[in-house]
Amino acid sequence: MKHMFDCAILDEEDHHVREKKALFKKADLILIAACLLAAALLAVCFARRRSPGASVNFLYDGITLKTAALNTGLSSTDQAAAEDGYYLITYRDDVTAVEYCADMPDLHFPEYISYNLVSVQNGAVSVEAADCKDQICVHHKPVSMAGESIVCLPHRLVVEIAGMKEAAGGAPDGVAR
Ligand SMILES: [Zn+2]
Repeated sequence: MKHMFDCAILDEEDHHVREKKALFKKADLILIAACLLAAALLAVCFARRRSPGASVNFLYDGITLKTAALNTGLSSTDQAAAEDGYYLITYRDDVTAVEYCADMPDLHFPEYISYNLVSVQNGAVSVEAADCKDQICVHHKPVSMAGESIVCLPHRLVVEIAGMKEAAGGAPDGVAR
């Protein structure tokens, strides 16, 4: 009789353990789901932090040739200077020049001059034409978000989008003195 009683208790304990195990599994699943949700939220936050560019920098060999404000549709003091159009970068030996053109310029150059023609329209920047061999810059999709860039390796040119903060902090004619 005593023996049977022991067995019954054991069975009951076993049942409790199994119930607990099942409970833990459910808790684990909830924890995993919560972690996934947190990761997804974090990813969305990071994606949101990618802000539209405020200006575009033209760098040759790592040196800034020109910085132009982007027309982002927002009203700010910088927007007055933002003009859509084309920036023609020409290279002749080691002399580089950046020229703003409101309309598509004529691209017939002598052989010793190479070029990149950059289009700036509504805050989106793309390389419209170039005489580089690989044409990688021309085929690059337009860039508009802060931190994005288009590189033309043969011409050592980097077209880089800068955000609001970088544009404000990097301006040499800042008001704060
Ligand atoms: Zn190129």
